[in-house]
Amino acid sequence: MSLKEHFARVRARVDAAAARAGRSPADVQLLAVSKLQPSALVREAYEAGQRAFGENYAQELRDKAAELQLPGLQWHAIGGLQVNKAKYVAKVATAFHALDRAELADELDRRRAGLPPLDCYLEVNLAGEASKSGVTPGALPALLAHVQGLPHLRAVGLMALPPLEEDPEASRPWFRQLRALAAAHGLPGLSMGTTSDFEVAVEEGATVVRVGTALFGARPPRT
Ligand SMILES: *Cc1c(COP(=O)(O)O)cnc(C)c1O
Repeated sequence: MSLKEHFARVRARVDAAAARAGRSPADVQLLAVSKLQPSALVREAYEAGQRAFGENYAQELRDKAAELQLPGLQWHAIGGLQVNKAKYVAKVATAFHALDRAELADELDRRRAGLPPLDCYLEVNLAGEASKSGVTPGALPALLAHVQGLPHLRAVGLMALPPLEEDPEASRPWFRQLRALAAAHGLPGLSMGTTSDFEVAVEEGATVVRVGTALFGARPPRT
């Protein structure tokens, strides 16, 4: 199957999941996670009509953004970020999906001055996993209030990466929790669902799904 066919298939699965939930497919953005994939593949996806790409690593994002300056192409930074690399994200990204602490928000805000506000999803660690980043649900209100006080960031939603299980249905309760949490805080955006569970995420209200492997195939190892 060609890259274009992979994209069309995933998009059709997103649309079908939206239809099952009585949602409009137009309300679900497909973010193509291109981390560790070569720029040539990003370009090929762009030529097939894809516009939003997700990257995890700040320097890789910086380099790809410099190389691929294409009209309408949007970069979303989706991975954990060190404060000293926030500048790379603030300079080129449309959105950041892993905001988890005030110190990082402050640096992104400072580096974003002069550009349109950076759309931010606050990452929530729903299962309290020590291996994962994200704020606890209890700490969310304080972080949200902090972000809402910063002029160059826009808190648009919540993001989560639930514990990885073989059965996509195992993610459903976590997605429901995230949706309830976002609603309780008046946030419209829900960044949830990856290759393993994006259809369940769409059924549970995802407004952005972050899909890599199902679109591009297996990732090369990180060197
Ligand atoms: C890598 C990654 C994805 C995409 O994962 P796939 O399983 O390849 O779809 C989504 N979200 C985050 C935060 C990631 O790091």
